[in-house]
Amino acid sequence: MHEFSIAVDIVDIATSSARKEAASVVKEIEIEVGQLSGVVMEALAFSLEAAVKGTMLEKARRNLIIIPGKARCTSCGHEFDTDTLYTPCPACQALAPEIIQGRELRVKSLIVE
Ligand SMILES: [Zn+2]
Repeated sequence: MHEFSIAVDIVDIATSSARKEAASVVKEIEIEVGQLSGVVMEALAFSLEAAVKGTMLEKARRNLIIIPGKARCTSCGHEFDTDTLYTPCPACQALAPEIIQGRELRVKSLIVE
């Protein structure tokens, strides 16, 4: 499953940055997931639960933050909300907008101890 390898990566990233701060436990982790990142939220949440077992993140509170999709029309410059990569511009119907937000997939912050 795609989401499981993402979950493992997230745990790796969080573990190594917690180690850099000489922490032994991660209390909370915030993860930003863009609506257009192609990640299925429920699958990621489920995968994280398995991926944190036996790690510093085992007891961490997991906050998954959804970043809504936003696009800018390359013809008229109109900015609009979108939940797909291929939504035509609502103002001028031009195709292939530039995606300006919603592809994020990153560890936003950690609270360590
Ligand atoms: Zn347009």
